[in-house]
Amino acid sequence: MSTLAITRHRAVTRSRELLSAALRTDFTGMSRKDAARWASAQDMADLGELVVAWLNGELTQTPGHCGPPCAETVPLTSVLTAVNRAGFVTDNSQRAGSRAGRTWNTWVTGFAGDATLSRLRTAVSGTPLDLDACRGRTHGCGGKPWGLPRCPRKEATGFWEDACPHAAGELHGTWWVYIEDPEPGRNDVLWPVLAAFAAAMEAVA
Ligand SMILES: [Zn+2]
Repeated sequence: MSTLAITRHRAVTRSRELLSAALRTDFTGMSRKDAARWASAQDMADLGELVVAWLNGELTQTPGHCGPPCAETVPLTSVLTAVNRAGFVTDNSQRAGSRAGRTWNTWVTGFAGDATLSRLRTAVSGTPLDLDACRGRTHGCGGKPWGLPRCPRKEATGFWEDACPHAAGELHGTWWVYIEDPEPGRNDVLWPVLAAFAAAMEAVA
């Protein structure tokens, strides 16, 4: 596959994944138990713990994901647990992989306050990873990223604000952060960098 074809494939894969996250429009499939747990969250720390509960099967859904973790997410349970407890509340991720001659890259998205974003930028600096962050009218994504008609930040954040009214104010002020490894098929850069970020956050806590 040519470099251009790989780039196009990556963009298409990423668009589809992010679009599916951004187009989630209701909570009709969420159980009362799950909805009550999410509605009880008071702040970002609570949201991080609920993502961990979802990763461990205690909850079936998140505000932006209508089901349990995908099989490909299971190997990431440990690092995503550490990342969410470090303040980066993740709402979507994909491991790099290949199938039937197609190869795709790994990425993660989520919500981060100013201090957490600063730490993420520090962790990513000097690596080949790309980090974009969007909030309000500030769009590191360029406004119409990855072939989408608009940035998914508003919708992605809105799902969580609707499901978590007590934490909505804090969520509204967060950055929607996207970190990807531009190299298709590679999983051994992004996740170790995020593990190091989480360890550094734990050290200063
Ligand atoms: Zn944006």
